[in-house]
Amino acid sequence: MREQKFTLAALRDGLLDLLFPPRCFGCEIHLRPGAGKTLCTSCMEMVKIITAPICRRCGVKVLAGEDRYCQGCLSSPPPFAMARSVAMYHEPVINLLHRLKYRGDTAVLQPLRQIISAPGASLLPPDCDLIVPVPLHRDRLRQRGLNQALLLARLGRGRGDTPIEPALLFRKVATPAQTGLSGAARRKNVRGAFAVKDTEVVRGRRICIVDDVFTTGATVSECARVLVRAGAGEVVVWTVARV
Ligand SMILES: [Zn+2]
Ligand SMILES: [Zn+2]
Repeated sequence: MREQKFTLAALRDGLLDLLFPPRCFGCEIHLRPGAGKTLCTSCMEMVKIITAPICRRCGVKVLAGEDRYCQGCLSSPPPFAMARSVAMYHEPVINLLHRLKYRGDTAVLQPLRQIISAPGASLLPPDCDLIVPVPLHRDRLRQRGLNQALLLARLGRGRGDTPIEPALLFRKVATPAQTGLSGAARRKNVRGAFAVKDTEVVRGRRICIVDDVFTTGATVSECARVLVRAGAGEVVVWTVARV
């Protein structure tokens, strides 16, 4: 029975592939049906997976032979213990993240899964007690209908069972978008914007903050600062992209 079900499902998928041949999410060329890919080889080759040498703390690319700490982390260490990102903020990643964030197009989670599973890609740190997606202000959540950071947290966790706590951290203030602001202006913009709902849940825990893009790190740093102040044991960061 089970085998028959599988055959019927395979037949249905095969027919759907024939009727609507799958297209690459990056360049829209037709893909070979049944290959289970959502990005073609050349689009996948454009994805710049971030690999060593990187700063041990903030994950920024450093020069070969300098696989230690970057100048920024040495002069003023961030409030998080470690930040890792999967890929550089280039096409096709930019477009996929924009479609998710601004158009609510959750179909792009398929190619994003292909990207985060690429060889050498930084995984969501596995030994965390809690996963906390960077929250949207409730007005913005209502307007967009989804929080991309929550969907990416689920994608990053995969089949693991670490609890995801989307309501543990919340935005008190509806801050203007960070786009176009300098590093200092970004830090000022998000200062005091977040609060912890339940400090009991946070105390002593190793928490992983998840966001779509790490630009200057202002947002995740502010989230980390608030979590550490609420008693978190350690905060680490995982983002899909990095500017
Ligand atoms: Zn393509
Ligand atoms: Zn660093």
